[in-house]
Amino acid sequence: RQERYRQLRDFPAETKDGVRVGLMMNAGLVYDMPHLDESGAEGVGLFRTELQFMLSSNFPRTSVQQQFYSRVLDAAGDRPVTFRTLDIGGDKVLPYIRATAEENPALGWRAVRLGLDRPALLRSQLRALLKAASGRNVRVMFPMVSEIDEFRRARDLVEKELAHLDRFGYERPAQIELGVMIEVPSLLFCLDELFREVDFASVGSNDLFQFMLAVDRGNAAVSSRFDPLSPAFLRALRLVAERAAAAEKPVALCGELAGQPLTAMILAGLGYRSISMTPASVGPVKAMMRELTLAPFRSLLDEMLDPLAGERGAEVVRRRVVDFA
Ligand code: PEP
Ligand code: MG
Repeated sequence: RQERYRQLRDFPAETKDGVRVGLMMNAGLVYDMPHLDESGAEGVGLFRTELQFMLSSNFPRTSVQQQFYSRVLDAAGDRPVTFRTLDIGGDKVLPYIRATAEENPALGWRAVRLGLDRPALLRSQLRALLKAASGRNVRVMFPMVSEIDEFRRARDLVEKELAHLDRFGYERPAQIELGVMIEVPSLLFCLDELFREVDFASVGSNDLFQFMLAVDRGNAAVSSRFDPLSPAFLRALRLVAERAAAAEKPVALCGELAGQPLTAMILAGLGYRSISMTPASVGPVKAMMRELTLAPFRSLLDEMLDPLAGERGAEVVRRRVVDFA
């Protein structure tokens, strides 16, 4: 099998009926970057920047961050990298940022909330990213955005940092694209406004499921309820893909769902044309895509998700998708 995946490395993930799905990889350290070549991923769809911060014993200076991002971009060459700004707080604690005890850390002071309340932290990271990307392309995305105004405020900080580069004579990036993670359900109800403002979005299916179904992603006592084939959840994913297509904005998905052939197949059927996964999943997912005929599978999904067709649980969806495959 490994040998078969290796042979597929330089072939696209294209379905039998000619639909291309970009397969990207998730990363978080410079050491992850060689996996780009090994896996045949087309780029980094999610770079979790907090990992570097978690390994450090103090808040890394802007210059240290800059060197790090620069090495990541060097390693990627002309393949795109989507950097996610710090997603700390909640379960990801930094010893040097005083954490207050929170009763519900997943719903607490974390991710972009922390960055907007402590703009010096976020600005240091944005400055490092923009300087590292001097003269080249960079994509930056903000985690845990729950209303559009948070994106606007984060974008204002990027503008301030660009002005800073100009003032001190640094070259700007050749191109900057700014996006959000869709992982808080409130964004599902303002997708049209959202897609008017962002350059791209990526669904964080781990958190989106956790918040939509109110099932803690890390709690073993409810893990049997963490079933993303829930029709309600699949409809939400389909809605995101539809509204993005209507707005002609690129949308991706970068949660665990992207990395299993069965669920990746469903994502392709729901309209996703870019998905990001752990490097080891790229081969198996590509092998599946190349065997898939998408058009009849889309019809099957639409039929299963049709609310008029009667209630169908995740188990029914799973069985019928397995039968199709
Ligand atoms: C997600 O929430 O789906 C995601 C990709 O981000 P993380 O797992 O880092 O929260
Ligand atoms: Mg998340």
